Amino acid sequence: MIEEFIIYCPDCRGKFEVAAEDFVEEEILECDLCGAEIVVVDVDPIKLRLLEPGEDFA
Ligand SMILES: [Zn+2]
Repeated sequence: MIEEFIIYCPDCRGKFEVAAEDFVEEEILECDLCGAEIVVVDVDPIKLRLLEPGEDFA
């Protein structure tokens, strides 16, 4: 069973789905709609922020 989270992009406010396995703290997601890079700050409750320009999150 594939679990997915519905999240809202902090940039374009678009709604998209993320596989649960990718939805962990400090993971960087890419918005399906605008391509923004989004950092998962917290998963419960869900807290997201945009990746700062020049920020290296490897
Ligand atoms: Zn977006």
